[in-house]
Amino acid sequence: MAFEYAPAPESTAIVDIRASYGLFVNGEFTDPVDGTPFKVINPATEEVLAEVVEAGPTDVDQAVRAARAAYQDVWSRLSGADRAKYLYRIARIIQERSREIAVLESIDNGKPIRESRDFDIPLAAAHFFYHAGWADKLPHAGLGPNPRPLGVAAQVIPWNFPLLMLAWKIAPALACGNTVVLKPAETTPLTALLFGEICQQADLPSGVVNIVTGAGATGRALVEHEDVDKVAFTGSTEVGRAIARAAAGSHKKLTLELGGKAANIVFDDAALDQAVEGIVNGIFFNQGHVCCAGSRLLVQESVADELLGKLKRRMALLRVGDPLDKNTDIGAINSSAQLDRIRELSEVGDFEGAERWTAPCPLPDRGFWFAPTIFTGVSQAHRIAREEIFGPVLSVLTFRTPAEAVEKANNTPYGLSAGVWTEKGSRILWLADRLRAGVVWANTFNQFDPASPFGGYKESGYGREGGRHGLEAYLA
Ligand code: NAD
Repeated sequence: MAFEYAPAPESTAIVDIRASYGLFVNGEFTDPVDGTPFKVINPATEEVLAEVVEAGPTDVDQAVRAARAAYQDVWSRLSGADRAKYLYRIARIIQERSREIAVLESIDNGKPIRESRDFDIPLAAAHFFYHAGWADKLPHAGLGPNPRPLGVAAQVIPWNFPLLMLAWKIAPALACGNTVVLKPAETTPLTALLFGEICQQADLPSGVVNIVTGAGATGRALVEHEDVDKVAFTGSTEVGRAIARAAAGSHKKLTLELGGKAANIVFDDAALDQAVEGIVNGIFFNQGHVCCAGSRLLVQESVADELLGKLKRRMALLRVGDPLDKNTDIGAINSSAQLDRIRELSEVGDFEGAERWTAPCPLPDRGFWFAPTIFTGVSQAHRIAREEIFGPVLSVLTFRTPAEAVEKANNTPYGLSAGVWTEKGSRILWLADRLRAGVVWANTFNQFDPASPFGGYKESGYGREGGRHGLEAYLA
């Protein structure tokens, strides 16, 4: 039986959202030259939060110029130890302002406060701390005796982990001596703009970090700008392909972090209750808006019924609703467009003959919501087994032998992550050798650490972020 909880809403008093924002260029919030305003809404209530700028080509050009000047005149001349001090200061300010940032992130993105408070923001700070440690040790990173920065980095990020993706991009770039122009996603620009304030508070030299808001056209103007030396993109495979085509033949160094369709593989000897927690974390964390989500459950046939019974009982306890309530497990879908995509692919699942089961949880009347859902009877040919749904929807397939599990797990154009649940250590190693995925989690899922490189194979992109390997993307 589910417990009844009284609402425990986090106060929003700590957050100060302005009615309108400019762009953060050369250390100042500036009015756009050829940008136009657009509105940002709270996906849990559909209320307008603020007006921000869709930066035009001239705005983007000014940001790149500011980054170039800061690179030449200041940042590339500082010692690694001096750069480290700024990164360390930024990390400390993120920690000091963590509650404010977490509330703002949940309002803007729709993710539960529990996750922004305990995952997104602490991990963003950890990335700055970690890279502060590298800034004066780059000659020891195994990339040659005197690795050099590339110059100006153009960075484009998605909406699912707004501040965390910003940290993954900006921290290594700055540690390695580059300056940046970053474009947050159009639905979630507010914590990136707050990060502009944090740069001011840290006395970061003007122009080292520039934030231009906007949608696809702004992103395109940025990554195709002639005076950027590095392009780092996280987002859909489709846009990633277009960026790779545009960058082909240029001097720009490119890293792409794209989609995924990860297999979470459960063997009959696994601790099933723990596996259920891992499955729930794998697909319902952050509403399933996770590139490395365990969106394909592969369960050994002999335990499939037992496991699915346990999973459904667990899913019935998930609380969907107000992202700012500390009891909430699953928040709002980030946008109506994303909700449409999730609904559409789920309907394809019905049409193709898979069996849908939805957790019996009430949903709020306003805002964008999708109840946790699983599809059983899924075959490998189904679109819901092949395409990324990027929502709280799990496709369940079965297997009989380890070899069949590997074959099915690898039968995807993607290759970002995978999970294995078994009591046998030798089997974990055997599988990890054979799974074509950038990360393989064993008896756990969705574990992240700044010291551990993250990235994919095949259509999940190339290059790594985090760890020693992640530095390579920002050094010549
Ligand atoms: P998206 O590709 O549409 O947008 C991502 C970002 O790119 C946004 O900031 C967007 O404004 C910008 N953009 C759009 N068109 C552009 C263009 N032509 N040139 C330059 N920039 C452009 O993706 P989305 O819908 O925002 O995010 C969901 C997708 O991102 C999913 O497929 C997910 O798997 C992927 N993703 C991958 C990772 C990873 O680490 N591999 C992480 C998060 C999300």
